[in-house]
Amino acid sequence: SFQQTRDDVIPRYVRVNTLKTTLEDVIDYLKREGFSYQGTACRLEDLSHLSGKRFLCDLHLQDLLVFSAKTAFHNHFLYKAGHIILQDKASCLPAFLLNPQVGSHVIDACAAPGNKTSHLAAMIKNKGKLFAFDLDAKRLSTMSTLLLRAGVTCHQLANQDFLKVDPQSSEYKEVEYILLDPSCSGSGMVCLRDEVSELQDEGRLQALATFQLRCLNHTLQFPRVQRVVYSTCSIHSQENEEVVSACLQQNPAFRLVHLLPNWPERGHEPFTECLRASTAKTRTHGFFVAMLERRPPQTDEEN
Ligand code: SAM
Repeated sequence: SFQQTRDDVIPRYVRVNTLKTTLEDVIDYLKREGFSYQGTACRLEDLSHLSGKRFLCDLHLQDLLVFSAKTAFHNHFLYKAGHIILQDKASCLPAFLLNPQVGSHVIDACAAPGNKTSHLAAMIKNKGKLFAFDLDAKRLSTMSTLLLRAGVTCHQLANQDFLKVDPQSSEYKEVEYILLDPSCSGSGMVCLRDEVSELQDEGRLQALATFQLRCLNHTLQFPRVQRVVYSTCSIHSQENEEVVSACLQQNPAFRLVHLLPNWPERGHEPFTECLRASTAKTRTHGFFVAMLERRPPQTDEEN
């Protein structure tokens, strides 16, 4: 029989918002509505062979459900009530990998419209503190609505340039985790790819990379920061591996963490600790994630 190849299609990903519900309750609700639950995916290929009302749990990320590409949820009760968030799998990686402890203090440096912020809030169970910054007032107001719907209460939003946030301020003295998802070329977004490619002149990429490096360097100035996740939806190494490389050279107290050993697409050599994502290899939009951690203090014997 004819089996259509769908490797070029991105499935519909649905993140369960554990601030409002549980994975089990969402699965039960959808089953009662006629959706057919197929268990947890075993292989990446399973994600591209979904049809009709069949759905799976993702194989890499927890609380993530996968449906066929055409499944519409924008008018669904679970979406309107903030029980589910419509978010590409790759964009769920940063908060999941940062994995802040419940009750900890976290910064989301370039936060609007806030899907990663709400994911971070879910990870810390609305306990502790989530400082979120963005330059764009309009995007921040969209973000307030989104966070309200998602039941996020641990956040403090500021319409502020992250580069002007003072790392020495006593407000941030307990911050141990930072998520940095700065403006980028967007060249990994499948829907934008054709439009964007024409605008990708070298000058623009260079300006973005300079801004991204300044932001990444700034995250490492917070006195108690232990881990920083850096992500972009760009496919250009100039905005990805090259930013990380320059930052590590300038900040020898930090090193890369080897992320998800079973993830199929890695950062370009020699930055294979980092992850890349793409439609062909991971069934997502194009994406890049790196995690930096502070090196443990050296003991006397090591000196
Ligand atoms: N993390 C967001 C999410 O998952 O919903 C998406 C962030 S988007 C890729 C980048 C954001 O950075 C934009 O909303 C932009 O307004 C903001 N931004 C750009 N320059 C900034 C700066 N200097 N300080 C703070 N935010 C900035």
